[in-house]
Formats: sequence, structure tokens, C-alpha cells
Amino acid sequence: MAEVLVYVDHVDGAVRKPTLELLTLARRIGEPVAVHLGAGADAAAAVLGEYGAVKVLAADASEFADYLVAPKVDALEAAYNAVSPAAVLLPSSAEGKEIAARLAVRIGSGIITDAVDLEAGAEGPVATQSVFAASYSTKSRVTKGTPVITVKPNSAAPEAAQAAGTVEQLAVSFGEKSTGTKVVSRTPRESTGRPELTEAAIVVSGGRGVNGAENFSIIEALADSLGAAVGASRAAVDAGWYPHTNQVGQTGKSVSPQLYIAAGISGAIQHRAGMQTSKTIVAINKDAEAPIFDLVDYGVVGDLFEVVPQLTDEVKTRKG
Ligand SMILES: Cc1cc2nc3c(=O)[nH]c(=O)nc-3n(C[C@H](O)[C@H](O)[C@H](O)COP(=O)(O)OP(=O)(O)OC[C@H]3O[C@@H](n4cnc5c(N)ncnc54)[C@H](O)[C@@H]3O)c2cc1C
Repeated sequence: MAEVLVYVDHVDGAVRKPTLELLTLARRIGEPVAVHLGAGADAAAAVLGEYGAVKVLAADASEFADYLVAPKVDALEAAYNAVSPAAVLLPSSAEGKEIAARLAVRIGSGIITDAVDLEAGAEGPVATQSVFAASYSTKSRVTKGTPVITVKPNSAAPEAAQAAGTVEQLAVSFGEKSTGTKVVSRTPRESTGRPELTEAAIVVSGGRGVNGAENFSIIEALADSLGAAVGASRAAVDAGWYPHTNQVGQTGKSVSPQLYIAAGISGAIQHRAGMQTSKTIVAINKDAEAPIFDLVDYGVVGDLFEVVPQLTDEVKTRKG
């Protein structure tokens, strides 16, 4: 069976959920071979094997942390040359897409970004993308070289399927150009304790209707009761009520959670572009004519200052 390279997104060997989703999708088109760069490959291998990785190609070098993405592209290219895979899968993060694009150029292959589904096809893997503010679904296939495909988080439910997960060292040599831009400092963002917006299974977003930075605490309280990430419309971000890193939409982040709750958001096309592929959409808006109600699964016409706290209390009560 053809091997499929899966680029591992991890923090010191703690594998992040989108990688488990990639392994699950990779099994539809071949045998997953994980590529783990940086520290913690042995710890990661147990989880990667549990989700179907037959092999884990591991490389650890200071270059991965000291420079921008090019050394990681060198390593992925080395893995590509070692395996001759049927496809290369990466998570659709900003970094994943940059690595994917650079790899595709180097190996002369076509690339598909932001896939939301993947299936085997007679002439190679077929990727589904959601386009034009999610008003169309398209299916595409790479016709030149080895398909390089990035997949959006939450596109598949991770399913375990035990495989060997044998760690093999990957020899990597770094090109001169790859070490041309050095990272000179890092400042970690203060942790909110909430899941990352693009990976969260549930997102609760607030818009202009929240009417002030101080009122976002009620959005955060609902999010925390559900273990959700917090999002915001551009109107709320532009007003300075919530950080830009939390903006959902065309010029913010694209999310595709199991559940998206929009409070005080009208549903402008640019906002929809970032959340329309969410599995279940709930809106709370006091205007029954708000366009967001055209795309919701459940809509509450009401004042968010009454509805959201009641919802939070109900969630807490049911959770005991
Ligand atoms: C090039 C471009 C890119 C853009 N990119 C983005 C983007 O990435 N993301 C994005 O979100 N927008 C984006 N926008 C802006 C977008 O067009 C809208 O202006 C924005 O989404 C509106 O935000 P909103 O829904 O919070 O505000 P509004 O449209 O003002 O809606 C507020 C809603 O809150 C409701 N409301 C008010 N008070 C309450 C209450 N007490 N209880 C319940 N409901 C209440 C109102 O009925 C209303 O429907 C972009 C625009 C452009 C031109």
C-alpha cells in the first residue's frame, strides 16, 4: 500500500488534535507515515501509532526552532525523498500552509490548501474545499507530481487504529538559504486556558451587539461553561473590545467547529466566510430579520444580555 506522509503538529511531543485528524484521513488513501520534527518524537510515537502511523520519521535539530520554516521544509523534503509517498498532508495552519507551498515548489507538485475532506480516487486523492464564503463545495485533484494537501482542523473526527508507530531517524541537511532568517526573540502570549480558536470543537463569538469590552465576560463565561474558544466579529475587534487574534471571518480566522454560537452578530458575508462550515450554528440576536438567521440550525430571537447568562447557567446546571 502506498505511504502517505503526515506532518506532525506538536508541542514538545504532545501531538495536537489536527494531526490525529490527518492520520485518520491519510488511512483512506494509504499507510500513514508521520514526520516529527523537534523534541519529543518517542513520546509522540505512542499516540501517532495509536492513530495509524506505521512509521514515525523523526529529526531533531536546533535549526527547527532557531530559524523560520525553511529548515522544516528541508526535513519534509528529505522524508519525501526517503518514502516517495502517494501524498503529503499538513494541517491548514499558517505555518502548515507555508511549509506545504514551499515543499510543493521544491518537488514540482500541485498543492491544495484548506481541504475539508479527503477521499481516495482512481487517479489520486480527491480533496473537498468549501469556497466563495462556503456557498460552494468543490472537489479537486492534483494532476502534477505528488499531491501536497493541507486540511482544515475539525474536518474529520479522529479515529484510533493501532499501527506500529516505529520511530526511525531522518537524516536532514539544511541548505544555506534555509538558515537565512534567524528568530531573535520569542514572547509567549498569555494563556487564556481556552482551546485554540481554529482547533476548538465549540466556538462562542460575540459581535457589535455585545456593546463593550467589559461585556465580553458574558461571552467568555458561556465559552468556559462549554470548554469553548471565544471568537469575535470584526466590528467587535475594530471597536477594540476583543483582540484581532480572535476575529472570525474573511480577514480573520476560519473556524469549522462542531458547534458555533454567534451572539449579537448580524451575519455579514465576510463573517460567514469564516464560520459557515461549522457543523451546527446557533445565533442569538434581538433582530428577527438579522441575516445570520438564514444559516442557523437554531436561532434565538432575544437580548443576548438575558439569553447568554441563562444559557450559561443551564449548561452549568446540566453538567452538575
Ligand atoms: C473587506 C472586508 C473584510 C471583512 N472581514 C470581516 C471578518 O473577517 N469578520 C467579520 O466579522 N467581519 C468582517 N467584515 C465586516 C463585516 O462586513 C461586518 O461589518 C461585520 O461582520 C459586522 O459585525 P457584527 O455582526 O458584529 O455587527 P453588526 O452588523 O452591527 O451586527 C450587530 C448585531 O447585533 C444585534 N444586537 C445588537 N444588540 C443586541 C443584543 N443586546 N442582543 C442580541 N443581539 C443584539 C443586532 O441586531 C445586529 O444584528 C469585513 C468587511 C470588509 C469590507
